[in-house]
Amino acid sequence: MSRPHAVLIPYPAQGHVTPLLNLAKVLHSRGFYVTFVNSEYNHRRLLRSRGEDSLAGLDDFRFETIPDGLPPMENEDVTQDVPALCTSFATHGAALFRELLARIDGDGRPPVSCVVTDGVMSFALEVAGERGVPALVFWTTSACGFMGYLHFFELVERGFVPLKDESYLTNGYLDTALDWVAGMPGIRLRDFPSFVRTTERDDVMLNFDGGEAQNAHRAQGVILNTFDAVEQDVVDALRGIFPRVYTVGPLPAFAVTAARARPELGAIGGNLWKEDASCLRWLDAQKQPGSVVYVNFGSITVMSPAHLAEFAWGLARCGRPFLWVIRPDLVAGDKAVLPEDFLAETKGRGIFLSWCPQEEVLGHPATGLFLTHSGWNSTLESICAGVPMVCWPFFAEQTTNCRYACAEWGIGLEIDSDVKREEVARLVLEATDGERGKDMRAKATMWKEKAAAAAEDGGTSTLGIDRLVAFLLGGTD
Ligand code: UDP
Repeated sequence: MSRPHAVLIPYPAQGHVTPLLNLAKVLHSRGFYVTFVNSEYNHRRLLRSRGEDSLAGLDDFRFETIPDGLPPMENEDVTQDVPALCTSFATHGAALFRELLARIDGDGRPPVSCVVTDGVMSFALEVAGERGVPALVFWTTSACGFMGYLHFFELVERGFVPLKDESYLTNGYLDTALDWVAGMPGIRLRDFPSFVRTTERDDVMLNFDGGEAQNAHRAQGVILNTFDAVEQDVVDALRGIFPRVYTVGPLPAFAVTAARARPELGAIGGNLWKEDASCLRWLDAQKQPGSVVYVNFGSITVMSPAHLAEFAWGLARCGRPFLWVIRPDLVAGDKAVLPEDFLAETKGRGIFLSWCPQEEVLGHPATGLFLTHSGWNSTLESICAGVPMVCWPFFAEQTTNCRYACAEWGIGLEIDSDVKREEVARLVLEATDGERGKDMRAKATMWKEKAAAAAEDGGTSTLGIDRLVAFLLGGTD
């Protein structure tokens, strides 16, 4: 019998490439031949940020590319337009993927034996079906975020969405609590992935994500980068909806173990921006453990120059050392310019960089708080490091993650979307000082331990990976 061959295809954005790549490493460490499919645009970026060698791959861990169908960009170091990418792949993805599979099957690799596709690249399910190989979807969101997307069309059918007019965004309507969403009692409209905040029935993201979530029913299983204990009710509810749900998080922990067994895997990285590791030396030099506020809004968030200034002055006011990652494209339509007097006032207290090795920053003993946009990878990485959060969700299921961090897990405080400097300073101090801060740190430590336990031998996610591998190998799960 030939070696099992898994083809993995992420949606081409940072928060998707990283977890799919981690899963690919895990599968490789379990004996699979791996083909990992990047968009041409992202592949060029990875080559630039990590160097050619990092993607040369191993003989049995190969990279392939497909075009994304978007017009060329002058500056390739920026995040692409999310709705345009979604629409492009929904339209052209199946044909491109079909061509790719036909080309690689029979070029000396073992025959493709299974496909793991990103939850929002469900066109690959149909192509895998044509070839008669099993295909699973990997939703790179939290379980609660995925459950939110799964209910988009029901929200439409029940008349909650689209909103009647713009006034419904601010008139208290979003505070409506629902009692019929499985595993999420009391969830409010505002906690659903942000694409429900639309007045248009034909809103691109409402329909795209709602449709992709339904397409998970066509897969043979659903993979989630979470662990049971942290989202137990939602995971249980999902297991009532889908025949196979594999919880395999936190994947970074498993990827580290995989790379220990096969060091060449460690060189394969998925960061689209070049990491600036100098900040780790700055953290080393901080005298007080847990004193640094780490500020990072991920790979997609954009904000106005006014909001940037509010964050800056909030950080100035709170008086803490801070490490602030400002992506070159963080500020909408503009270069991020920080006020001169803010820079003068905080000189020596803060550092700025454009991309950092986030897991190492969160895991550093000097880091005490994460001011985050609540992306799922960032949230999970913060949980793994035991670092509480101040949350400023931007879009998608970040609103759902924020709700869980604040109301369910007790490790987050939310900042109003129209952020003001006083609130930034107040919440940072609340999360670091006094009883509230103590309670958040204790809970963060508890969740960190539970995350580690899930990834140990016999832990729920280790068993999830065992079951996933058994299924992909053609056995039962
Ligand atoms: N990340 C990083 N360095 C940075 C910023 C982000 O390594 O300076 C990584 C981070 O560790 C996470 C991913 O980029 O794994 C961001 O994914 P997330 O789901 O948090 O947010 P998104 O970028 O999709 O909004």
